[in-house]
Amino acid sequence: MSEASHSTHPTRADRSRLPNPHLADGPAGLALDGVALADIARQFGTPTYVYSARALRENFASYQQALAGRKHRVCYAMKANSNLSILKLLAGMGAGFDIVSAGELARVLAAGGDPAGIVFSGVGKQVAEIEAALNAGGSGIGCFNVESATELARIEQVAARLGKRAPVSFRVNPDVDPKTHPYISTGLKDNKFGVAFGTAIDLYRRAAASAHLKVVGIDCHIGSQIIDPAPFMEALDKMLDLVEQLEREGIVIEHFDLGGGLGITYRDEAPPTPAQYLAPILARFDARGHGSKTFMLEPGRSIVGNAGLLLSTVQVIKQAASKRFCIVDAAMNDYMRPAMYGAYSEIVEVAPQGDAAVHDVVGPVCESGDWLGRDRLLAVAEGDLLALLSAGAYGMSMASNYNTRGRAAEVLVDAGQVRLIRRRETIDMQLADELAALQAR
Ligand SMILES: *Cc1c(COP(=O)(O)O)cnc(C)c1O
Repeated sequence: MSEASHSTHPTRADRSRLPNPHLADGPAGLALDGVALADIARQFGTPTYVYSARALRENFASYQQALAGRKHRVCYAMKANSNLSILKLLAGMGAGFDIVSAGELARVLAAGGDPAGIVFSGVGKQVAEIEAALNAGGSGIGCFNVESATELARIEQVAARLGKRAPVSFRVNPDVDPKTHPYISTGLKDNKFGVAFGTAIDLYRRAAASAHLKVVGIDCHIGSQIIDPAPFMEALDKMLDLVEQLEREGIVIEHFDLGGGLGITYRDEAPPTPAQYLAPILARFDARGHGSKTFMLEPGRSIVGNAGLLLSTVQVIKQAASKRFCIVDAAMNDYMRPAMYGAYSEIVEVAPQGDAAVHDVVGPVCESGDWLGRDRLLAVAEGDLLALLSAGAYGMSMASNYNTRGRAAEVLVDAGQVRLIRRRETIDMQLADELAALQAR
């Protein structure tokens, strides 16, 4: 369970092999693509999420290259990081998008993404969301990834009312164990996601018989932060069994969507590259006679995770009876993964100074669960900068205002330039709606 690899011994990141590409020591400490993190902190303050445009482009391109020469679509699972500038960058490279809400749909449209490249996943799609998706850009989104019989009926009703035909795929639950953290395993049979393998055929028959539904594909998504590619192959084979059964009944499947889930390096995980994990999968896909179908994926974490880091400033070093705390200005409301999954991320000094000591790196939030890293050997003093690595995915997109803390700023480093892509949330911004309610009384 790589998400929950608690350290029992103090750990120290190897500065010569950091998990974020394009991050390296320079004359002023750590620099991302040549831009000193200290300069970013001076200009934009902390806590701040810092992303590398170059890493984002490389990560997306690695999927495109692995799928080159065949009909394909890479739908970025934007819940990993939904900043408009990041969506725009990926849309410009031809990305489709995997969305899970009307809010995410609005973000894709605002960023200039193509509605036809959108797949809509999620177990609780509401009528208004379905309507917005059917109307997006006039001709609607590319596909609903349907997760229940109720949802199928609901989509059919809304499509009938609007005089449209809704493109559908079923998210089938292949019941494979991705061997990842239980909170991010999604393809087991007692999971809220997807439709059970055994009931899928019947749902496909229903959809195929409807004048307001059009069967276009099949999809699955078995989990996240998957390092061992074997479960993907297992899912592929099970799904193809179903596809072949559907085709014997004359139900045409135009696209096959294997979902997302490829893991990244947080500490010492060595996930395969997209090309490495996809090569045997595509070989099997072709060998079983499906090579002319559109092959789709929904990667999130592996596109943005290692492209981002969270920059913070040490506020207080506090020695307790048997522990030394490094209290920083970032907290669980900025980066929830440690509190939520016990997740590990490397934390490195922007410019180490003095002797290293073992610290628990924690935030100022009033919760003992508010920690970012435990038992870390760090050479730090109050006022120093720390970078929490591999923070691009499920970082800012999960941020909250707990403790009335404003959400962090986000900046994008692109070709040696730094651009603010979301300003720091102010207290005024946080209070505005409640003040309006007070004043309306
Ligand atoms: C979260 C999610 C993804 C992306 O998962 P990653 O592990 O970030 O690649 C893809 N598809 C669906 C349906 C999801 O819910």
